[in-house]
Amino acid sequence: MFENLSERLGGVFDRLTKQGALSEDDVRTAMREVRVALLEADVSLPVARQFIKAVEKKATGAAVTKSVTPGQQVVKIVHDELVHVLTGDEDPGKLKIDSPPAPILMVGLQGSGKTTTTAKLAKRLKEREGKKVLMASLDTNRPAAMEQLAILGTQIGVDTLPIVRGEDPVAIARRAKTQASLGGYDVYMLDTAGRLHIDEELIAQAAAVRDVANPRETLLVVDGLTGQDAVNVAEEFDDKIGVSGVVLTRMDGDGRGGAALSMRAITGKPIRFVGLGEKMDAIETFEPERIAGRILGMGDIVSLVEKAQEVLEAEQAERMMKRFQKGQFNMNDLKGQLEQMLKMGGMQGMMSMMPGMAKMQKQLDDAGMDDKVIKRQIALIQSMTKKERANPALLQASRKKRIAAGAGQDVSDLNKLLKMQRQMSDAMKKLGKMGKKGMMKGGLG
Ligand code: GDP
Repeated sequence: MFENLSERLGGVFDRLTKQGALSEDDVRTAMREVRVALLEADVSLPVARQFIKAVEKKATGAAVTKSVTPGQQVVKIVHDELVHVLTGDEDPGKLKIDSPPAPILMVGLQGSGKTTTTAKLAKRLKEREGKKVLMASLDTNRPAAMEQLAILGTQIGVDTLPIVRGEDPVAIARRAKTQASLGGYDVYMLDTAGRLHIDEELIAQAAAVRDVANPRETLLVVDGLTGQDAVNVAEEFDDKIGVSGVVLTRMDGDGRGGAALSMRAITGKPIRFVGLGEKMDAIETFEPERIAGRILGMGDIVSLVEKAQEVLEAEQAERMMKRFQKGQFNMNDLKGQLEQMLKMGGMQGMMSMMPGMAKMQKQLDDAGMDDKVIKRQIALIQSMTKKERANPALLQASRKKRIAAGAGQDVSDLNKLLKMQRQMSDAMKKLGKMGKKGMMKGGLG
């Protein structure tokens, strides 16, 4: 079996002590391992290179959360970038099937799973969206393929176009269209002929059918186990026929899913569905997260890092709340709150998130608080010494003068700020006395 990426990276980072951020050297070392992992997962070399360049930039200087290792942090960054690359603009599972009867053209090589996928999707449309679906096989070279679709149709309770021997694919497509209109079908699916390799005749036939049917979706079915070959096939089909999405089959096998990344990076086509077995229900909407996890050969690291980050944030919030409850609300706290306000784009957002802050809000509104005012207040706090920020009671006349002058403002401005800090400190103390219940939103004010 493959050694998974987190194990590899664990080794690389073992000799590094835990530190605040990932250095350039750490990242470079880590990326060598990421590259091997990608290639092992069947990602093509140029795609792996391009991908690593993007990750390198993001990882250098990234903060390392305390409760995870730098290696785990890198895995998380790599994972997020994979998801980013694999995610398309639109909902992959949503087929464009408005304006009935909507044609869906299925293309792909022989043995890719095209017929199976056609039936799987038909079943899905019928069951999940209540659509009336008609399927037609255009594989005139292989009568067995036509019969296979008919059998699957019976199995899943979806109609198939009656087989007429000797008819060519374009004629079948026309008949399917007519039948779909007359029969009141929402969707008709055209399962085109496949070949073992792409050849001119195959492409010409698919193009002729496309021109007749004018499909709303052209789905290319490719075998997910074929890796780089799958990408070449996709490029060619897209070039000659134009595809609106890709279905990767056999993702239930032990392929590492790298084809998905290459496919997406090289063709730019969204992966819409993945086939996960031979059964008619074994198809799922493409989920970038799952494939990313698979490519990296790890599942829990990402959630571990996410959880660590959440815990850290919760711990910080808790510490802050504890201090506030004791009425400890100094200038550093006030500065933090003011900066938060700026970040959140104004008072409203901030106040609605702070417990019992309705009263404060009114005062701020009365004082005409806007971004400019907030920035001036922050400047005043910055002009204080560390000691003064921690203990505003120190601020007597001479200190006040120095601070105000340092921020280019008047002592009266500083007095307003001090009043605000005292009021917030009082409010916090009251909240603290009311206990945890009182800390709920709207508890005061
Ligand atoms: P076509 O020639 O492209 O129409 O391929 P078929 O639909 O006939 O599929 C070929 C074989 O692959 C059949 O035995 C299918 O049951 C199998 N198959 C199709 N999709 C999947 C899949 O997602 N997973 C697995 N394990 N087998 C699949």
